Amino acid sequence: MRSQIRLGKFFGIRVGLHYSWFLIALLIVFSLNAQFRVANPAWTPGMVLGLALATAVLFFVSLLLHELAHSLVAQAHGIPVREITLFALGGVSQIEGESPDAKTEFQIAIVGPLTSAVIGLLCVGAVFILPHVVTPVTAMLTWLGYINFALAAFNLVPGYPLDGGRVLRSLLWWKSGDAERATRTSAITGQVVGGLFVTLGIVQFFFGANFGGLWIAFIGWFLIQAAGETRRQAGFKRAFENVRVSDIMSHDCSTVDGRQSVQDLVDRLVKSGRRCFVVMDDGHVAGLVTANEIRQVSRSQWPVTLVDSVMRPLEGLHAVPPDTPLGNALEVMARENVNQLPVMSNSHLDGVLSRAEVVNYLQTRAELEQ
Ligand SMILES: [Zn+2]
Repeated sequence: MRSQIRLGKFFGIRVGLHYSWFLIALLIVFSLNAQFRVANPAWTPGMVLGLALATAVLFFVSLLLHELAHSLVAQAHGIPVREITLFALGGVSQIEGESPDAKTEFQIAIVGPLTSAVIGLLCVGAVFILPHVVTPVTAMLTWLGYINFALAAFNLVPGYPLDGGRVLRSLLWWKSGDAERATRTSAITGQVVGGLFVTLGIVQFFFGANFGGLWIAFIGWFLIQAAGETRRQAGFKRAFENVRVSDIMSHDCSTVDGRQSVQDLVDRLVKSGRRCFVVMDDGHVAGLVTANEIRQVSRSQWPVTLVDSVMRPLEGLHAVPPDTPLGNALEVMARENVNQLPVMSNSHLDGVLSRAEVVNYLQTRAELEQ
């Protein structure tokens, strides 16, 4: 899940929206509008719509606070956070890297539902303190209070990747000391919980003629997918457990001077049969250039275009240190949709890991294991 619309940075963490968010935002505004109008027939339509809009905005603020809580605790433990994305089914914090221990994992997971519960308490508490008359403010606070309690409760359902599933994973990890097995077990519970949601949702839809049932089934389906993906990744990581990037990367990287022309590079490319060159500027690694970048330039421009101007600069290349586990490097490749990763230590280029090396490695391994 990647953000498609950037909203800005909060506490140094990028926050954005996925297109699917607009669907849920619309649904919430419509349903709130209907709900407030039925409950308070004396209010004008404009007032009701304004209230529905304001309540929806505050709902997304409380979702964001839930995700920020996860992200800030992760950051406090030195785990980088890529971004927070709001989408159709809520929010997701993209925390990069694993928790170093079960306790950290537990804290990162539990703080989200705790935040929602605290927001719920504050809203409901405010309604109790305010005069006991239904005003737009109390109607809004009541709804926000209950929806935040519901968020806390729903997220505590012990199905990975819900927060409750992560809590379960941290407890299993803490008890057994085996993070991998804890991941597998909690992912299986995630699939079971997802299956229950789908069944429950379908039953509700057909017997209760309730559209909310379809929504529950949809959430269940999403859980099954996400938990299945987690299981696959865990299996993948186990297969590559003892393999480091430095074990299989290619060391003999061809380099090219950034001030050479693309034509010169193409001549070398054809002769050497290589698909990827490291671009050097003044003895420093400046970027990578592959056949892909060359294709962006029309053939007639090759002699007059410098390699510098077409390369992919180092900043965007997601360089990894040589001791990175292969499973993690493959995750980066898949997530960033790149075919090569420069392998660097202390701003020195050690090698390049490309999909070709990974395929070679897998083939060799498969042959040996037969
Ligand atoms: Zn959460």
